[in-house]
Amino acid sequence: MNNYLISEAIGDIAGSAYESKSHRIKEYDKVKLFSSRAHFTDDTVLTFACAEAFIDHLDMTMNLWKCGNEHRHAGFSSKFKLWMSSHHPQPYRCLGNGAAMRCSSAGWLAQTEEECIRMATETAAPTHNHPEGIKGAIATALTIFHLKNGKDKEFVRTQILNTNYPDWADKPYADIHDDYSFNSTCEGTVGPAIICFLESKDYVDCIKLAISLGGDADTLAAIAGPMAYTYFKKMPAALVSQAIRKLSDWMVDVSVRFDKVVNDDVI
Ligand SMILES: [Mg+2]
Repeated sequence: MNNYLISEAIGDIAGSAYESKSHRIKEYDKVKLFSSRAHFTDDTVLTFACAEAFIDHLDMTMNLWKCGNEHRHAGFSSKFKLWMSSHHPQPYRCLGNGAAMRCSSAGWLAQTEEECIRMATETAAPTHNHPEGIKGAIATALTIFHLKNGKDKEFVRTQILNTNYPDWADKPYADIHDDYSFNSTCEGTVGPAIICFLESKDYVDCIKLAISLGGDADTLAAIAGPMAYTYFKKMPAALVSQAIRKLSDWMVDVSVRFDKVVNDDVI
């Protein structure tokens, strides 16, 4: 497989058009994956920053800081912007879904469950060192890790969703759809993103389900997209090339080198 990181970028870019309050939608059939408003946001900047730190053996905190500062207008939260402005950035016990949207590389690179937990923690800890932030990163990365290693949806439901997020346990998408509203915590995002993946019939379906929940659309789709790609192992080629055209050169470079490291199993 290739384009692992692009599976996050497509979700983020597609969701970006529906993130703001005035553009959120609940209608699945009205979701357009690449509208003129679509662009990559903080989710993609930091996903690629984490991946780059792993494959190039860089300091995680400093690479998040550097990449963030190079894309300051990508839609970061005010707290993250404050963190980026510091010359000695310190974690601020964040429990936001930013921990879950950037950690996918840990799931693809790890060789063991223990390593996946350690690497996911490493991606979250520079800012999201609240237990819920760390948990969100670990639950997301472990989902990807286990799907990559052949586990099925039932495993993800029972061992990850139900175990980590009992409030969302066994909930069908149809039951959460109408009342779901914007929520930027891990607790309010990771469970629903997993539910979108569990009920999806292919990658595009998963992205559309995530966006039409009508919440933090880019982040929901950025979290669910990598799960769906790892499981279904297919994304439409046209979507991949449209996404690549919207990325920065360094992202495209990281994406190509990341695929090689994952496929060669050497880090
Ligand atoms: Mg975003």
